[in-house]
Amino acid sequence: MIKDLQDKISKAGATLVTVSKTHPPEKILAVYRQNCRDFGENKVQEMVDKHQALPKDIRWHLIGHLQTNKVKYIAPFVHLIHSVDSLRLLQEIEKQAVKAQRVISCLLQFHIAQEESKSGLTLAEACSLLEDASFKTLKHVQICGVMGMATFTEDQQQIRQEFRNLKNTFEYLKSNYFPDQSEFRQISMGMSGDWEIALEEGSTMVRIGSLIFGART
Ligand SMILES: *Cc1c(COP(=O)(O)O)cnc(C)c1O
Repeated sequence: MIKDLQDKISKAGATLVTVSKTHPPEKILAVYRQNCRDFGENKVQEMVDKHQALPKDIRWHLIGHLQTNKVKYIAPFVHLIHSVDSLRLLQEIEKQAVKAQRVISCLLQFHIAQEESKSGLTLAEACSLLEDASFKTLKHVQICGVMGMATFTEDQQQIRQEFRNLKNTFEYLKSNYFPDQSEFRQISMGMSGDWEIALEEGSTMVRIGSLIFGART
């Protein structure tokens, strides 16, 4: 089943991020053995523990809300932070990246859903972040693209439209702020219930949990 999923995702030119939150290391290892190397977690402590316990060639993706006081725990190893939603957070990532002597890749998270609960930036907020003089001084963070979560709904047209909006946001930022940066290329969108629509709408990274691991308890 994973093989089939991997084939469809790679055929679309996208990356599968297997969302392993709440699942124990043994279950993650079983998926790792089926050639998955990208795993997503939404809690810092859980990611740190799993990073310690599991093979070091795993690429860890932080997909949940990140508090500034916790950046230091993941800065030495995190592969990609999908959930950047403020300049203050970026400044802290910069500070910890300097300490860890690396450049940390990040995505800007956008609010695309109609639900209040799903966090993220508006386009106007992202523009003011990118135009802020202090953003330009950050040399140890690399903005690699955008991330968003669609509304949890049966309405496929609504989901499609929200993904389309995120893709448009990506294109707008690409041409206005990152025209010569090939690193700015990721559109992280699509989960277990909507990954096929996301790929059709230009996703480069799908974050899939329950479809692979079964329902979380
Ligand atoms: C939990 C989670 C996922 C995966 O959700 P599934 O429906 O289990 O595939 C994807 N993205 C984010 C941000 C999540 O928190």
